[in-house]
Amino acid sequence: MPERIEYLNPLPMLDESSHSGPRHSSPTTHHSPLTTHHSPLIDTFGRVHNNLRISVTDRCNLRCTYCMPEEVQFLDKAELLTFEEITRFVSIAAGLGVDKIRLTGGEPLLRRDLASLVRMVVAVPGIRDVGLTTNGILLTDHAQRLYDAGLRRINVSLDALDPDRFRQMTRRDGVDRVIAGILAAKKAGFEPVKINAVSIRGVTEAEVAPLARFAREHGLEMRFIEYMPIGADQWERGKVYFAHEILEQLEREVAPLVPVEDYDPRAPAMEFRYTDDGGRVGIIASISRPFCMSCNRIRLTAEGKLRNCLFALDEIDVKTLLRGNASAETIAQAIRGNVHDKWEGHEINTARFVKPPRTMHAIGG
Ligand code: SAM
Repeated sequence: MPERIEYLNPLPMLDESSHSGPRHSSPTTHHSPLTTHHSPLIDTFGRVHNNLRISVTDRCNLRCTYCMPEEVQFLDKAELLTFEEITRFVSIAAGLGVDKIRLTGGEPLLRRDLASLVRMVVAVPGIRDVGLTTNGILLTDHAQRLYDAGLRRINVSLDALDPDRFRQMTRRDGVDRVIAGILAAKKAGFEPVKINAVSIRGVTEAEVAPLARFAREHGLEMRFIEYMPIGADQWERGKVYFAHEILEQLEREVAPLVPVEDYDPRAPAMEFRYTDDGGRVGIIASISRPFCMSCNRIRLTAEGKLRNCLFALDEIDVKTLLRGNASAETIAQAIRGNVHDKWEGHEINTARFVKPPRTMHAIGG
């Protein structure tokens, strides 16, 4: 077996015997007596949480089949957290050690004046890294403004370069606009610009090499993501085009790859570089190599629900606290409690897996 494949060995897997009962039952809701006012966000598995993903809207201008249904009842505007509410939450989370923020959605560029939110979040003491995940449809118009507001990291989702396959996957047209948006982001100064492509067996194989070549040509970092059961469609494990298959295809059709020198086996993306200096490729193997045991993420939905996992079945209503003038300490305790109650992992590969009732667009990708 080639050397690189060793890097695909799974992280320590969840111990089947370590717990019983449904995934959403929390181990306990008591907080450790060691918890102090400023102690970091640590769960009962020792995972430190410093990464907050914030959904700014549940609306989207695409309808990716693996993500959301065609017909959706969107939230009323009044239900969305305001920029001030989001920023207050970020300030409180920063006091607990959160230093990394990613804005997402829905499609975040549909939220009016997103650059103002970027500016507000970048200015929060303790926040050192603010990123955005977008489908790129509106990026040409926004890239420079976002960069000027202080955004430095941008991920653009693009599953297919072929217009017909793009339409098949997103149920909309627009691949040209996404490509223009990606190039606009490069021009505005974003470095690196990462491209995320979901990999679905029988659908996306023919896109892997063209996307990889496109990324090499334009100095982008391509990342392939294993298809997860979080959309409105019928997920099956057999539909996942697995990390090792993507790697083999890239080596066969594009160029040889080796793990990057600063390879971090605990990071969500396994990173490789082309041996011909063609840049980097990342693979996010959420199914074949779950990284739950090194997860450092919490998520805030557009209407202010705090989730400790993409696949969580429970959430905390932070908006009611924010709008009820709860103290910073009360909100901090809510965050701490949510992290404390985090389960071991998503359990997609076990019979216990329960798909959350919300689809990806309503959680925030
Ligand atoms: N609209 C923005 C975008 O397209 O990037 C942000 C939200 S979107 C939900 C964030 C990411 O989640 C996208 O890269 C999308 O491809 C990914 N995603 C959505 N459903 C997925 C699924 N079932 N499996 C894997 N990734 C998924």
